[in-house]
Amino acid sequence: RRVGFAVVGLGKLSVEELLPAARTSEHAYVAALVTSEPDKGEAFALALGLTPDDVYTYEEFGRLRERSDVEAVYIVLPNSMHREYALRAAEAGKHVLCEKPLGVNVADAQAIVDGCAQAGVQLMTAYRCQYTPEHWAARQAVQEGRLGKVKLLDSIHVQVEDDPEVWRLRLGLAGGGPLPDVGIYSLNTVRFVLGQEPEWVFAAQHRPQDDPRFTEVEESVSFMLGFGGGVIANCLTSYGALKTSTLRVLGEEGSLLMDPAFPYQGVKLTIEDEAGRFEPSFGSHDQFAREFDHFAQRVRSGQTPWTPGEEGVQDHIIMDAIYQSARSGQVVQLKKVEGQDVFR
Ligand code: NAD
Repeated sequence: RRVGFAVVGLGKLSVEELLPAARTSEHAYVAALVTSEPDKGEAFALALGLTPDDVYTYEEFGRLRERSDVEAVYIVLPNSMHREYALRAAEAGKHVLCEKPLGVNVADAQAIVDGCAQAGVQLMTAYRCQYTPEHWAARQAVQEGRLGKVKLLDSIHVQVEDDPEVWRLRLGLAGGGPLPDVGIYSLNTVRFVLGQEPEWVFAAQHRPQDDPRFTEVEESVSFMLGFGGGVIANCLTSYGALKTSTLRVLGEEGSLLMDPAFPYQGVKLTIEDEAGRFEPSFGSHDQFAREFDHFAQRVRSGQTPWTPGEEGVQDHIIMDAIYQSARSGQVVQLKKVEGQDVFR
């Protein structure tokens, strides 16, 4: 039996990616929509084979409690609204799949984790790249030693944000600029590929004084992550440069490049070692359908999802340290959590 989801927020990501992906998912389906625009909701509901009764406004969200076929919600709202709707969903007994970044800072994201734990519902941070075969192949190449001892990584994720009115440029709604929106892919993927947590961060940021888009958030951030064994990662993120996404890992005996690294389709992985140059191919697949499938299966089995809420909190801990370093000009040390291979 597939798991029914209510998709909360019918913005660009929901409409262009998630609703189509759910149709191809084996284990999940969309059973309800939550939106402030009922007409738009009804049009999408009909296209999905649902009825106008399956469309709810934000005010009616609590009525999802009565819907036993809605077992999970997928929160696809501006970042500062994730917490309110995750907690309302948890209180209604629904499992929560929440878009990245999980919240707007560590305390906000931790409140989501705590609320879901108290309510006894599952929580997953929607890190689609951790459900992508090219990213798993990169992780495997690194962790199985195919590149020899890894020394350095670099990653770029930039795009132009040209609408001065968009919520992404409002600090209160977004929690930051390009860092929590697109830079988070570099941060999360470096951690995923290495399977290690950074011990220190060092960062610089730039906010132009004369550009109306950047009155509240930064335009660009450059951040460095230091890992055990002297491994260093250098990452760049910006809202001011044409779309580029890359990840490179350099080891003593080989290297790999993902370019592009973070698109919805067409991630390209190249591995180079002494034996030559390889471009493994994994056919076409939908990252969002894989993400839906994973969460639905974990809801059924009761096992913790691969990218739980804590994974989202960990990125917030590191992003908060990145901003702290950028403000102070100092290296920020993360503290080792006793008994765990985690630095906070
Ligand atoms: P969007 O602006 O296209 O849609 C936002 C939705 O929230 C709309 O339905 C809008 O009506 C609703 N909304 C409610 N209150 C709002 C308010 N005060 N201001 C603006 N919108 C409001 O945004 P999006 O690109 O769909 O992003 C939504 C979430 O998805 C964000 O958390 C974002 O980080 C995440 N996202 C993830 C990916 C990914 O690849 N995983 C890609 C894009 C966006």
